Amino acid sequence: MSLFNKKRSKLVLIITTSIISGSVFSEPPKLLTDKELNQVVQVREVALKSNLGFQILESLTTEVGPRMAGTPQDTLAVKWAENKFKQLGFDKVWKEPVTYDTWVRGIETAEIVSPYPQNLHITALGGTVGTPEGGVKAQVVHFENLQELIKSKADTVKGKIVFISNRMERTKNGAGYGKAVSARGKGAVEGAKKGAVAVIIRSIGTDTHRVPHTGLMRYEEGTGKIPAAALSNPDADQLMRILKRGQEVTISLKLGAHTGPVFTSYNVIGEMKGTSAADELVVLGGHLDSWDLGTGAVDDGAGVALTMAAASLIKAQGIKHKRSIRVILWANEEQGLVGAKAYAKEHAKDIKQHTIGSESDFGAGRIYSFSSLVTAKDMPFIAQMETLFAPLGITRGDNKAGPGPDLIPLYAKGMSVFRLAQDGTDYFDLHHTADDTLDKVDPAALAQNVSAYTVYALMTAQYEGDLVRPKKDKK
Ligand SMILES: [Zn+2]
Repeated sequence: MSLFNKKRSKLVLIITTSIISGSVFSEPPKLLTDKELNQVVQVREVALKSNLGFQILESLTTEVGPRMAGTPQDTLAVKWAENKFKQLGFDKVWKEPVTYDTWVRGIETAEIVSPYPQNLHITALGGTVGTPEGGVKAQVVHFENLQELIKSKADTVKGKIVFISNRMERTKNGAGYGKAVSARGKGAVEGAKKGAVAVIIRSIGTDTHRVPHTGLMRYEEGTGKIPAAALSNPDADQLMRILKRGQEVTISLKLGAHTGPVFTSYNVIGEMKGTSAADELVVLGGHLDSWDLGTGAVDDGAGVALTMAAASLIKAQGIKHKRSIRVILWANEEQGLVGAKAYAKEHAKDIKQHTIGSESDFGAGRIYSFSSLVTAKDMPFIAQMETLFAPLGITRGDNKAGPGPDLIPLYAKGMSVFRLAQDGTDYFDLHHTADDTLDKVDPAALAQNVSAYTVYALMTAQYEGDLVRPKKDKK
């Protein structure tokens, strides 16, 4: 910026300020007072030293463990959450029913029959049908990615087991997942269209361990249902080496997956009541369910624990806040955002009371940046937040925040969202595997997360601006 421009922008600032102070425009929303800011600093520092988040996570992963939707542990997790909310001093604790179809994993085995017989480490993808009695045994046809399968001629696929080998790229923000995951979601549909008997994929994950990654797959109406499973990454590499030798490869696959009975679980909700704006809500939370292979420590026990801890620590400091702080633990995220959709439907009438939301569903890595989704009048408040986040090593990102998965239905109805970006470099080493266990969580990093969520929740609960989204972003 040139000196001239600098002078001119100062002049514009003076004119603008005098117009505002002359009440030509309505007053901008009041920022947090020094006293309120000091309270934020106080709880932020307490949270950073507190072990509460880790204690909650230890409790969930030990006393409940894996909690796949529709299992007895799903019910147990709901009871655990209600009790934990109460123990943590939440003012109001309740649950809202969510009903869904269930899926049962059953046995899962695979082996290379020829040319080099050996077992493969494999896991069924969530929602898949099982193989026929006795399993399927067929020649493998390999594709680099889903697009290659879509482009292929049906006669090259018919009667075979499709193998999609796309490799997920490791990134800090998890961007590699979106690029790779279509093989998991749509592989079975595209394979079935061409007459394949089953589909196997390289796991959507970044590790080099012999643990396959499960995750949701889907069928399409009008297309046949074929079984779908994921190979661990080292097994996928092994299969590639064998295929490269140019011989026909035959695999035998047995999956006992099937549907179970319709099941009712619950979104479990805890709230800390506000004062002058108690009807307005600051939302935070995570999903209570997990996949069945690990104990769901990073997905999403961490999100559950750290948001419960954040709200509890604010209360424990005796701080009164204007808006209410609501922690939502959503049911059955993994099999299609079922609890999140039920919540948004149930709360369609009071959706406007949901001022802003932030979900933690990306593990327990340190938070490095935040992003907002507000209009110009709230920018001075965002600048205040920037100052309070800075000591946690969290820098200001853009004003284009997107929703966490369980906030998608509320976001679609117009709620504003806030994003605390975690370092997810290692997240997809563990995601949806048997390796997703408590030992992978760094208690200090989890405490930093709790601390950041106290700053988010308390500041947005105290701020008098409406935090609405820019018009063009409203869906
Ligand atoms: Zn998750």
